[in-house]
Amino acid sequence: MTVLASGSKGNATVIAAGSTSVLVDAGLSCRELMRRMAAVGEDAEQLDAILITHEHLDHVAGLSVLARRLKIPVFFTEPTHRAWTRMVMPRTTMSYAKWLEMMAREKEQRAVEAAAPAHTLAGKRLGGTGVVAQLEQQIPVGNGSQKSKSKSNSNGNGNGECSGELDEEEDLVEASGKGKSDPSYLPAVEYFRAGQGFSIGEIEVSPFTIPHDAADPCGFVFHARTESVRMAIATDLGYVPPNVKMALRGVDVLLLESNHDLEMLKDGPYPWSVKQRVLSRVGHLSNAAAAEFLMKDYDGGAHTIVLGHLSESNNLPELARLAAEEAIGGRMSLLGNRVVLAQQGTPLEPICL
Ligand SMILES: [Zn+2]
Ligand SMILES: [Zn+2]
Repeated sequence: MTVLASGSKGNATVIAAGSTSVLVDAGLSCRELMRRMAAVGEDAEQLDAILITHEHLDHVAGLSVLARRLKIPVFFTEPTHRAWTRMVMPRTTMSYAKWLEMMAREKEQRAVEAAAPAHTLAGKRLGGTGVVAQLEQQIPVGNGSQKSKSKSNSNGNGNGECSGELDEEEDLVEASGKGKSDPSYLPAVEYFRAGQGFSIGEIEVSPFTIPHDAADPCGFVFHARTESVRMAIATDLGYVPPNVKMALRGVDVLLLESNHDLEMLKDGPYPWSVKQRVLSRVGHLSNAAAAEFLMKDYDGGAHTIVLGHLSESNNLPELARLAAEEAIGGRMSLLGNRVVLAQQGTPLEPICL
């Protein structure tokens, strides 16, 4: 797990196992995401997919540019995809019927692109849209040599720059009426549902519902089949309901929200309505709530706990750390329960198990 950024100005985390790597959320600009990946030795060109937790801007800001740039599929729940589409479309309202119609058109478009032997957009890596099973077949497994996590990038595109110009393939897409003219266009879209696991290459993904004010927000548990390692991401949740407690059992690395200090939030600069939203059951997890989970419900078995989505206005890293470390108490050791803080401005060192 490599946390590239965490906080209300942008979230993104790389999860990698064997020859598979996925990006969870794309909440910074494409250029910044690629710059940060290069800085920690992750090759953006080797990403297999982007998974989206929910449609808030701090999780999707760079999504369409990055997905088009890397020509990789984006995994959403259907309501999240719908909400995202509404958000990026210039018009303010779109009926569900109209959206379905648009999706059908796009699917057709992607099928045409996938069928073309060369110069295709979606066809290049994955053969276009399809069910997850197809994806698994098409993402080559065991090509570790090709996908070795090289610090150097093989072409100019991977050097941390997102070219503002359309490349040749994007020109073709443009010519077919997609691309820039349709801000919701993505090279391939795959749907998942909370509670239903799926696989991307060597990573098994178990999405779970989280309480947050978005269309269909999810956390994820990732399981590296070959290494028997489990990592979880649970940020952007108003409280920790039973299904989340259950999902977070037996994880080796846990990225857990520790958003605000209650006193700082109450006395802080936010307008009352925003304070109410943050504090609500569909807002964000406080240091105290994260600590309560760690004290009462956490099984104590993780190698590392990453505290994330810290508010820059209503929290201090040391307050978040103190609350978590107190809650973990005697269970902290050299072997486990190391507490680290994810940051907004700089990526964390990769956590490797
Ligand atoms: Zn967020
Ligand atoms: Zn959110």
